[in-house]
Amino acid sequence: MSANSAVGATTDVAAAGVVSPAAARDLPVAQVLNPADTSAVVGHYVLSDAATVDAVVAHAETAGRAWGALSGTERGSWLTAAAKAVSAHEAERSTLLTREQGKVLWESEVDVHSAARALRQNAELAAHLDVESVVRDGRGTTIMRRIPMGLTAVIVPWNYPVYLTLAGVAPALAAGNAVIVKPSEFAPLAITRTLELIAAALPEGVLSVVPGDGAVAGQALVSHPLVRKVIFTGGTSTGRSIVKTAANTLKSVSLELGGNDPAIVLDSAQLDDRTIRELRRSVFTCTGQICINVKRIYVHRSRHREFVDKFSAAVDEIVVGDGLGPATTMGPLNNAKQLASVRELAEQTRSHADVRVLGRKNDPSSWDRGYFMLPSVVTGIAPGAPLVTREQFGPIIPILPFDTEDEAISQANDSEFGLAASVWSEDVDHALALARRVEAGSVFVNTHRMGSSDQSMPFGGIKQSGLGRNHGMWAIEECTELQAISHRP
Ligand code: NAD
Repeated sequence: MSANSAVGATTDVAAAGVVSPAAARDLPVAQVLNPADTSAVVGHYVLSDAATVDAVVAHAETAGRAWGALSGTERGSWLTAAAKAVSAHEAERSTLLTREQGKVLWESEVDVHSAARALRQNAELAAHLDVESVVRDGRGTTIMRRIPMGLTAVIVPWNYPVYLTLAGVAPALAAGNAVIVKPSEFAPLAITRTLELIAAALPEGVLSVVPGDGAVAGQALVSHPLVRKVIFTGGTSTGRSIVKTAANTLKSVSLELGGNDPAIVLDSAQLDDRTIRELRRSVFTCTGQICINVKRIYVHRSRHREFVDKFSAAVDEIVVGDGLGPATTMGPLNNAKQLASVRELAEQTRSHADVRVLGRKNDPSSWDRGYFMLPSVVTGIAPGAPLVTREQFGPIIPILPFDTEDEAISQANDSEFGLAASVWSEDVDHALALARRVEAGSVFVNTHRMGSSDQSMPFGGIKQSGLGRNHGMWAIEECTELQAISHRP
């Protein structure tokens, strides 16, 4: 296999190793700040304009035709080579990710490491596309096959940039499509480096990047007539606007959007250390900024006081600071807008509920330089309060009592979102029966998020949490069209 790099525009942080048409056109660049110390510039990204997107699209469309003509097995071999290539320099990219995104280093390591896994698993699945089904009847024969959908845009947010990007890129490539990625303005660096490594191991032009603003580079991709598929992960309102734009050229759109995951703790739940820590992790990982984090907890009234006390004690152990600090267990929020939005919600909540601010500052002297916020636990809050009904996407969690299971299910389902949920009980059969009544794409028992990043489990939301499913053949098939070829005997 020959190998070329094929990245449409790149960051200027360190030696990216790719000379791109966009960079050569002398486009303006924007800064990426460290959320733990906003006086530090981590790097820059190119502000791709519509003309750059046009050029990258034209190039990728041509490359995509040759890529789509390969068999699934052949594409699988390329993806296996890309998985090997992207396993290099993971430590360096993990540190870079924490510096631009804010999360603690182990979370960045998990994120960065997921790229090779997604490529390997999709490499194995690609061969399934070589199997055609044939139906014969008295009239003749029909061959049914999956063909690539066409040039695919993958548009991603800043919280888990590597995992979320590869959740779109790997199946789209396996399905035979060229892919153009638009990373988030707030975490474009580690993912661009990751994509450069992958692109360098694939045929030229098959994988490209157009960093830049959503309203410019993102919009140009979504409205481009040669882009046939958009895989979008981000906020629900952005998702709605993307569907409207994509409608003009009738593109296929897959959406992974916001969530407001409930956790229901039954009177039969075991409130031991493991449960409490698992729930703490489910709430505060990535400083509460994961679509599939627990965002509201309903506890049976008979256990409410005990739960609040134990959970608050565990939350009080959280150490907030720079994600690279060895003692830090929770990093800053990612950006100024996110911090302002969560702070405002916390302020509003104070007027009608009991907000307990917990945890401690790792390095109080650096506090004002970063987007830091201590974790909070909220009680005495009404079910209809904004902190309960909105997606807070930050380190503040409401805990509400319930009297009957019907009431808990009804409150859990009273949401425009339906991404995931969990039920906690020692009686697993009973919890499983309740889980079936929850309106969510994924429901967990005695855990939250288990396997949610596993390529062998479908992942996605119902209601306004999204359209379509990540992972496995479910995602690959969403990047294909079904073609029927019929002939007479
Ligand atoms: P966002 O919607 O603001 O931005 C996401 C991406 O869309 C960015 O790359 C942005 O530049 C781009 N964009 C913005 N406007 C655009 C437009 N008009 N056309 C094309 N692209 C455009 O979201 P965010 O603030 O980066 O991320 C937070 C949100 O993402 C939260 O709501 C969270 O729940 C959601 N999220 C969902 C999942 C999931 O799998 N369901 C995963 C992670 C994050």
